[in-house]
Amino acid sequence: MHNKSITQLAAGLRAMDFSSVELTRHYLQRISRLDAGLNSFITITEEQALVQAEAADKQLATGEGGVLTGIPIAHKDIFCTQGVRTSCGSRMLDNFISPYDATVVERLTGAGVVMLGKTNMDEFAMGSSNETSYYGPVKNPWDREKVPGGSSGGSAAAMAARLCAAATGTDTGGSIRQPAALCGVTGIKPTYGRVSRYGMIAFASSLDQAGPMAASAEDAALMLQVMAGFDQRDSTSMQQQVPDYSATLNDSLQGLKIGLPKEYFDAGLDAGVRQSVEQAIEVYTGMGAEVREITLPNTGLAVATYYVVAPAECSSNLSRFDGVRFGYRCENPVDLEDLYKRSRSEGFGEEVKRRILIGAYVLSAGYYDAYYLKAQKLRHLISDDFKQAFEEVDVIMGPASPTTAFGVGEKSDDPVAMYLSDVYTIATNMAGLPGISIPCAPVDGMPVGLQIIGNYFDEARLLNAAHQFQQQTQWHQQLPEGV
Ligand code: GLN
Repeated sequence: MHNKSITQLAAGLRAMDFSSVELTRHYLQRISRLDAGLNSFITITEEQALVQAEAADKQLATGEGGVLTGIPIAHKDIFCTQGVRTSCGSRMLDNFISPYDATVVERLTGAGVVMLGKTNMDEFAMGSSNETSYYGPVKNPWDREKVPGGSSGGSAAAMAARLCAAATGTDTGGSIRQPAALCGVTGIKPTYGRVSRYGMIAFASSLDQAGPMAASAEDAALMLQVMAGFDQRDSTSMQQQVPDYSATLNDSLQGLKIGLPKEYFDAGLDAGVRQSVEQAIEVYTGMGAEVREITLPNTGLAVATYYVVAPAECSSNLSRFDGVRFGYRCENPVDLEDLYKRSRSEGFGEEVKRRILIGAYVLSAGYYDAYYLKAQKLRHLISDDFKQAFEEVDVIMGPASPTTAFGVGEKSDDPVAMYLSDVYTIATNMAGLPGISIPCAPVDGMPVGLQIIGNYFDEARLLNAAHQFQQQTQWHQQLPEGV
């Protein structure tokens, strides 16, 4: 059953070939058999899942419900889930039971999905390898000595091992696309403002965006359909019509103008990954697309700019975790200052503390102009690069990550090397643009992701382009050995 697409599962449920309870049990059994070696889940909500599955079966029996009714999925543990621990991968929130659902969770639950549990992630979504999680690293199902990417590494690994039919993720600088690439799954980061951030624990509010991770673009389209749309509880969500993403999946790509930024094929790109991405682009020219070289001249500034903007926003967002209102509190504080200091020192991990310090520094009175203001200006330049590019082309293609999955521990002592994993994804977040990563030919048995970047609110075109590729290739259907 876990090899079927959501559309096929939905048809099976409707035809009563199997029930949602059976399907849910199937996934729960896979989780209990396989996840000990992967660590992709922080919390498994077995009881609640079976209750939801029973309710879905009742609804399906009356002939009602939609395509997601009774489909078992997993949520990244950054989304608030009512009555269920929402840890954000941190000791700080290890004991936090959310009193409400995030909009994304509420909408998917409303569409009838079954929640299997909450997936592992880098602490507060800060990381590219899932090694900063308080709950321990996630292993890549394709090679357990390797990382799954991050920060949505739990969702990516769970998807790659088919421990769920789809999963949610979030992407601030690449956290959906980079783990999707490293684990061989499909992941889309929508336009900033397309999906509500309400109830999604904030890391860098001007960059954070939620999206689905799935086995295919077709499945991702079904998930995004429900997740997307205006939410009055998120002041940055956009009042924009959500198109029918499934309706245009089969549109022809004849004449599609693809831009290949020369900066995305530079010396930092692994030779095998380059070859795989170039092969994938040939599949597109075979379908009638036209390719031209473009330039995004400020690409080289994106990582440095991000590591001013994102920490600045994080230092402000994370100030709410003070040991007073919710989350971790140190033992026997002697006074208020001691309570703040020790709760935050003990509750946060190293990477989170590093970002809070950098953020507080770049926002401080003496350095604000030199760093924060400068970064805001650079952010404009980066956005303008894309604006110009989209005057010439319909989509931009390149690698999602410069390498395939790297070894567990390989970059954990070198933050800058780790930060460079997102060199091809970060600029998209700085500009607020949508991007998708889809599996192309593996290198030495490890998955590679082709990234497709679109213009604002052009998710339908990205899903269409991704789906057409997946009609021509089978990479997205390959499963790691032993799952
Ligand atoms: N790896 C980047 C970081 O650590 C991006 C993470 C993300 O997208 N949440 O900030």
